[in-house]
Amino acid sequence: SGPLLKVENLTKHYPIGAGFLKNTIPVVRAVEDVSFSVEAGETLCIVGESGCGKSTVARLLMRLVEPTGGRVLIYETDIAGLKKHELRAYRRQMQMVFQDPYSSLNPRLTAGQIITEPVENFERLTRKQRNALAADLLQKVGMSPEMMHRLPSELSGGQRQRLGIARALALKPSIIIADEAVSALDVSVQAQILNLLMDLQQQMGIAFIFISHDLGVVEHIGHRVAVMYLGRIVELAQCEALFAKPVHPYTEALIAAAPVADPTRVRLPAPVEGEVPSPINPPSGCAFHPRCPLAVDRCRVEVPPLVPIADGRVVACHVRAPATKVSEDSAVAAT
Ligand code: SF4
Ligand code: MG
Repeated sequence: SGPLLKVENLTKHYPIGAGFLKNTIPVVRAVEDVSFSVEAGETLCIVGESGCGKSTVARLLMRLVEPTGGRVLIYETDIAGLKKHELRAYRRQMQMVFQDPYSSLNPRLTAGQIITEPVENFERLTRKQRNALAADLLQKVGMSPEMMHRLPSELSGGQRQRLGIARALALKPSIIIADEAVSALDVSVQAQILNLLMDLQQQMGIAFIFISHDLGVVEHIGHRVAVMYLGRIVELAQCEALFAKPVHPYTEALIAAAPVADPTRVRLPAPVEGEVPSPINPPSGCAFHPRCPLAVDRCRVEVPPLVPIADGRVVACHVRAPATKVSEDSAVAAT
């Protein structure tokens, strides 16, 4: 019955500073009209430069912040309409793994206490039950049960991130949001954690929303990829298709600028030029126009809509994915 998760026109504006009149208060347009869906057991990656709004999307989904507009549906149920106890059940379904496993783990609790805590928020466990649960969760993330007695400070970065994952698994979620979950780790440890996540997905059918600025990581783990620029999705496609043939000029530039592990892959010539503009006062029309080599007059005035092209891919670009406005065009031609 419909996708596991459906996000419709999600928007978040943060007011900044103070103004006399409401409409003079400047806002940060952190997330603007973002829509996507996630199927059970799939990995959707959200990629983009820092400040593009990808972390805000995660916080909106976790209901850590309230949206300015739009809807989030779990199996077609709008979570905004949930009662308190239903929201608790919803929160069990969706768990999060953070970038820095050290600051997100309580330094005074043992590994065992850290990973069983989410369950103990819902039910009382005996010491024996707690130990059994901790041992099981540690084994799921490839750690030995004896580690349950260690403090976070006695663990390596990779072990701490495994702990963060074990904690997220404790409530048997159907979806895990991982925000830059491997960015702080060494490359060899990154690979181990990504493989662990993929194994867990195979075994438990968990869906992931994997947020990253690192295209190498995204290419490794993603089924589908959403590319964000200044709060908006500009391209969403199957992972392989996106890397093989980026359509949006921003996607193309991102891939061209990324360090390539595979030397046989053809590199495109154009790196992204210029700074990412501020989301406080984003450029008019297509926000990418000041950096886009293909920009035309229309790009400066009109926000390009996301247009479906092929194989479920959507692209927001007046030049690469022009909206077919047959009636309008023929009306112009007729005059
Ligand atoms: Fe470039 Fe225009 Fe396409 Fe935006 S809409 S990406 S400015 S060509
Ligand atoms: Mg972030």
